[in-house]
Amino acid sequence: MLDTLQHKGRRKQLLAQLSAKFDFDPKVIDAMYKVPRHIFVEYGLDHLAYLDKPLPIGAKQTISQPYTVAMQTHLLNEKVNKFDKVLEIGTGCAYQTAVLAQMGMRVYSVERQRSLYMLGQKNLTRLEYHTPLLFFGDGFAGLPQFAPFKGILITCGAPEIPNELLRQLAIGGRMVIPIGTGTQRMVVIDRVSEKDFTRSEHGDYKFVPMLSGTED
Ligand code: SAH
Repeated sequence: MLDTLQHKGRRKQLLAQLSAKFDFDPKVIDAMYKVPRHIFVEYGLDHLAYLDKPLPIGAKQTISQPYTVAMQTHLLNEKVNKFDKVLEIGTGCAYQTAVLAQMGMRVYSVERQRSLYMLGQKNLTRLEYHTPLLFFGDGFAGLPQFAPFKGILITCGAPEIPNELLRQLAIGGRMVIPIGTGTQRMVVIDRVSEKDFTRSEHGDYKFVPMLSGTED
């Protein structure tokens, strides 16, 4: 794995840019400094990996923009600690997965496109992230066999909050989910008791859509 001084320098610069825009928890910035984003982007796009932009990862999907990854991780980290179980929907190239693993969270991640599920596994293995567990399936169903999760992070735009995922959120846990078609609101749901949830919104973002079913 080639992570040169130049890559590290560009990564540092990008993180300084992100920190100038929002007061991210230093733990998030530190984790993102340790994960080499250029390894996750398509071969040949290496030189674009440290711009604050989404990039193609194949199968008409994109790796999220670094600012978005920082924000989703920051929001999750306000309620989720090291060693807590997190469910991620939309593994893609597994960059966000690696950032969560780097934070010390125990990640279960679901991807609906087989080629990306395989790409994610390849990238994590290559970088020696051995703790995240990846699953090929439809994220709308979550992973009831491993519930409850202290954190649930959705990395695609959901039409609405999937009820099944709410059921899999631990009491005291937090879900971070972009809601909407076209543009999405970053919605945070905290489960305060068996029946009670609170909701807050954290700005507009643009994600690829959350789709039902799987694709081979
Ligand atoms: N976190 C990823 C973002 C990838 S884009 C990364 O850093 O690369 C969002 C991903 O969500 C896509 O790979 C898409 O295939 C996946 N996705 C969309 N709907 C899904 C669903 N219902 N279940 C699981 N994954 C889904």
